[in-house]
Amino acid sequence: MSKRRPNPRLAKIHRNYTVDEVATLFGVHKNSVRNWVKSGLPTNDDRRPILILGRDLVAFLQAKRLKNKRPCQPGEIYCVRCRAVQKPAGAMAEYQPVTATAGNLVGICPSCESMMYRRVNFAKLVQVGANLDITLMQALPHINESTQPCVNSDLSGSIQP
Ligand SMILES: [Zn+2]
Repeated sequence: MSKRRPNPRLAKIHRNYTVDEVATLFGVHKNSVRNWVKSGLPTNDDRRPILILGRDLVAFLQAKRLKNKRPCQPGEIYCVRCRAVQKPAGAMAEYQPVTATAGNLVGICPSCESMMYRRVNFAKLVQVGANLDITLMQALPHINESTQPCVNSDLSGSIQP
């Protein structure tokens, strides 16, 4: 867990760290630290060895955490594989009913092409699926038997059994 989500609190803001020290501090590989530098972690790049200010490290890791933990906005689904929020490829998604009132919004991740699922109340489908081209899938047969076939016609109301 700590390897994937380095705790920014481990860094002291007034200290300078070498890449090795940062790697040891967070229990990550040196290459991970170099990737952080490549993706925007500031360093004193005019000197050797590379030194990273604790304050920059804290800010960078906090921003990184926030980005990963950002809740889904309308039209977005969390990709488990990328561990990031994504907009489904082609702005297309399917709504697969699970119960009469809720189901999964299913899309394809534009980065890794795996399936992404977002649990959604049918009543909120229009809101959650904003900007998406949503295909409504057929309800499961046993739901059809017990509910009126109004799934497609009533997006806002509750469905009476
Ligand atoms: Zn993905």
